[in-house]
This record gives sequence, C-alpha cells and structure tokens, in this order.
Amino acid sequence: MKKGIHPEFKQAKVICGCGSTFTTGSVKDELRVDVCSNCHPFFTGRQRDVAAGGRIEKFNKRYGSK
Ligand SMILES: [Zn+2]
Repeated sequence: MKKGIHPEFKQAKVICGCGSTFTTGSVKDELRVDVCSNCHPFFTGRQRDVAAGGRIEKFNKRYGSK
C-alpha cells in the first residue's frame, strides 16, 4: 500500500445503546451503535422496543382481536 493516501485502520471501540462494548477494525476511534449482537431481538428473542408493543396493543384495542 502507498503511504499517506490510506486512512489508518485501527481497533475501534464500539459502544452499543444497551451498554455493551466490543472492538472492531475501523478508521474511527469510537463507534456508537443502537443494536449489537447482544441486544438485537434476533439474538435475544425479545422485543427490544417497548413502544412497539404499545402500538400493537393500541391496534388490537381499536380494531378488536376477539
Ligand atoms: Zn447492544
């Protein structure tokens, strides 16, 4: 690689919205993400967003699920 034209690739600290941190390769020092493999619903099997559940409840109340 030519020197001086490539951004420095280094270990970046990734900080997730759930509070978990891990490192990955990046040109940035620090990355902030909303979901990671620890808290993503696909991995946890849980609803992450409480408001989403609230919307479904409202929908059922309005249109009725008997
Ligand atoms: Zn997370």
